[in-house]
Formats: sequence, structure tokens, C-alpha cells
Amino acid sequence: MLTWQDIDTVLLDMDGTLLDLAYDNHFWLEHIPEVYAKTHLLNLHQAKVRLHEAMSASQGTLAWYCIDHWTETLGFDVHEQVRKTAHKSSLRPWVFEFLNFLQAHNKHLLLVTNAHHVVLDSKLAHIDIAAYFDHIVSSHDFQAPKESQRFWRSFAQAHPFDPKRTVLIDDNETVLSAAKQFGIEQLITLRQPDSGLTAKTSTLHPSIHHFNELFDTANAATKSMSGKTCKMLM
Ligand SMILES: [Mg+2]
Repeated sequence: MLTWQDIDTVLLDMDGTLLDLAYDNHFWLEHIPEVYAKTHLLNLHQAKVRLHEAMSASQGTLAWYCIDHWTETLGFDVHEQVRKTAHKSSLRPWVFEFLNFLQAHNKHLLLVTNAHHVVLDSKLAHIDIAAYFDHIVSSHDFQAPKESQRFWRSFAQAHPFDPKRTVLIDDNETVLSAAKQFGIEQLITLRQPDSGLTAKTSTLHPSIHHFNELFDTANAATKSMSGKTCKMLM
């Protein structure tokens, strides 16, 4: 699928790509409605309907990813809820092996996420992957989501890369389409971002189930055993 000698830069999304989206789906579809219902004395069904309406209205915008926005909109401290639950997030399979492979092959490696800093920092406090990356970038730093051309223009200015020698791996296909429009040629999506949901059978962009489809796993296993130790902290 990828010819690694033709790639210098690897851009990796976080939620649903490196980390299992099961945490985020549970957080937004179950946990937050429960807190919202308790705070505003609603039943759970009413809370879910109201939240669904509020979230649908802002999907794909930076506000949708903004914990300050949801704290203001929902009337309770969503930052606190993120900090209290982030230890439940977990890595998708083959992530350490894939990151070891990329590091061993000297790729310029960036984590590029729409996650708000409180989400990013809370998750990376429990999952020890930050050291693999040359840069960790939140789209909130550029005031534009990855779905927009404005983000890609600002990002490329801050972290120059050759779009022809770059791959973006992201579970969000709207983001991949925006990156394609910007000129990034190599795009890969994930068929099962949430381990609790059925894998997708069709995608707009080339797709993988797990990262082991992108490198020689027999080789990588030896390297990761003799390489530096990186483990889950939780
Ligand atoms: Mg994602």
C-alpha cells in the first residue's frame, strides 16, 4: 500500500487512529449525557436528544472539538470530566510496533489532532507515546479544524513538509479529503476506529484495519524488543 522509501513525513491522527475511539464515543454518547441529565434535572433520554441536537449543529467545526465551548454550552465543567476519565482511553493494536518502525526508519513524525489541549494532555499523561513525535500539533493552535484548508495552510507554514512525500493516516474521511485538496497524495483511513463497533466495509480512501498491514511485523517485533521501552502507564 505504501512505498516507505518515497515517504519522509508521517502525519498521524490521535483519536480513532492511534487511540481506540471507544473511549470518546462512550464519553460523548453516555458519560456526558448522564452528567448533563443530573446537572439539569432531565431524564437520560431528554439529555441525549438535547445533546445530539447541540452536537449536530457544530459537527466539523472547531467548536465541536472545543472543551471550553462545551463547558459553556452544557453548563458544567467538561474539562474536569475529561481529566477524570482520560485514563480509560487505550491504544489501538500495533501502535507501538508501528511507531518503532517509523522511528527506526527516521521518518519525520507528527501527531496532528483536532483534540483540544485538555483532551490531548490528559490522554498523553496516561499513554506514553509523546516521545516518538517530532511535533505534537492541535488544530486549536491554528484556530481551524483539520477539515478546513485554513488549517492545512497554517500547519504547512509552521511545519513545512513535501505533500508528495507525506502520508496522513486519519479515521476522519472529511479530514482526508481536505488534506487531498491541499495536495497530500498518500492518505489512509481506518476501517474500525472504535473497537466496539463493526468494521466499515467501504471507505472513500485506501484503508487498513490495523497498522500491521503497513510494515514487516516480524522485523519490527525484534526491533521493539531490543529498542527503547515504551509502555502504557496505566
Ligand atoms: Mg480521529
